[in-house]
Amino acid sequence: MVQNFTPRQRKVRILATLGPASANPEMIAALHRAGADAFRVNMSHGDHAGHAKVIAAIRALEKDTGRPTTILVDLQGPKLRVGTFKDGPAELVNGKSFTLDTDKSPGDATRVYLPHPELFAALEAGTRLPLAALTEKDRKDLTFALEQHVDWIALSFVQRPEDVAEARTLIGGKAALLVKFEKPSGVQRIEEILELADAAMVARGDLGVELPPEAVPPLQKKIVATARRMGKPVVVATQMLESMIVSPSPTRAEVSDVATAVYDGADAIMLSAETAAGAFPVEAVTMMDSIARSVESDPDYFRRLHFTETAPDATTADALAEAAGSIITTIAADAIICFTASGSTARRVARERPGAPLLVLTPKREAARRMGLLWGAHAVPTKDIGSFEEMIAKGKRMALRHGICKAGAKLVMMAGVPFGTPGSTNVLHVATLTGDELRGYS
Ligand code: PEP
Repeated sequence: MVQNFTPRQRKVRILATLGPASANPEMIAALHRAGADAFRVNMSHGDHAGHAKVIAAIRALEKDTGRPTTILVDLQGPKLRVGTFKDGPAELVNGKSFTLDTDKSPGDATRVYLPHPELFAALEAGTRLPLAALTEKDRKDLTFALEQHVDWIALSFVQRPEDVAEARTLIGGKAALLVKFEKPSGVQRIEEILELADAAMVARGDLGVELPPEAVPPLQKKIVATARRMGKPVVVATQMLESMIVSPSPTRAEVSDVATAVYDGADAIMLSAETAAGAFPVEAVTMMDSIARSVESDPDYFRRLHFTETAPDATTADALAEAAGSIITTIAADAIICFTASGSTARRVARERPGAPLLVLTPKREAARRMGLLWGAHAVPTKDIGSFEEMIAKGKRMALRHGICKAGAKLVMMAGVPFGTPGSTNVLHVATLTGDELRGYS
């Protein structure tokens, strides 16, 4: 049976974190209906048996709807925790000192044990903490995630390119790799780090722990602009609709924060506790979807979006993607159709932030799933094509089936010959839909 699923009515993608409020098949389906394109499974909480059930529920939903659905497993990383307290939680008092020490006895209002001897050994002003990005727990969680065939692995607290290189080796191409920028030392080396990663996240929660809150917005702009320039999808995360954890409607400032991330051209925006532990998970996704649609229908949206310069790399694929973007504008094309095995051609096209809908046809379901974090991509797994004529016929047919455009539409097509060979993008073709292709489709 051929399953057709219509494109989302927005370009930016929504990533929803699952947790106690939402980690069941009914709620996952409801979040998906409300607009969640991708789901985050957070390894900081829960156990493997519970996570496996959630992953199975998402895959079952994907089978029902036909829409490739993205699963991102977020590794906890080296989050530092203190020891225990003898009389329950101690509250820090402004102006009073509090000591972190090596004494294992339970803490009180003046001190507590910090079970990380390596930190004491490294102490000096401005020191980058000598913490590897992958702990023993992360390694076990990573093995589990790869056995579950998830689509993305998120690496937490990355500080150095070496951390990314190690994770990449362990992943071995079985999933794509997203780097969470949540330490200032990581942001300082953003280009070297992103060179080795497939996507970035502005993890504002922990960035705001490491830095004063007012230091976070400039870093958000920098991370989004750098990732866009480098053609890597970028997710803006944390406290986007925070008040919706307890309230059915957000504050005006939260709406504005989500809108700003969309105007800045983020590929995806994330909900954390709002969908994982809040009282209004579906309302939060619905609200995010409405905000994104409102921004994207602003006549000024594309002008603002193109504020970030995305000069092409000196490759044929990048040159063609840039040319496709300019053809779309010049002839007011109605859609761009991209044939890609790995998804990299779609990533290059999405980087141009084209004004027309982007239909991505790929023989690989895994590639279609990974595109759930990519701006504007409507990815459809379909049989590979073998010839130029087949490319044109299939492109037209799929554009019609998926409601991308109507008779008379001008389509820009991109592909690589020989077909099905990753990295071979070298064809740019313009076709027009005539009434003929409509036969059989109402
Ligand atoms: C963050 O710190 O903003 C973040 C996304 O990470 P986590 O939720 O894993 O702490």
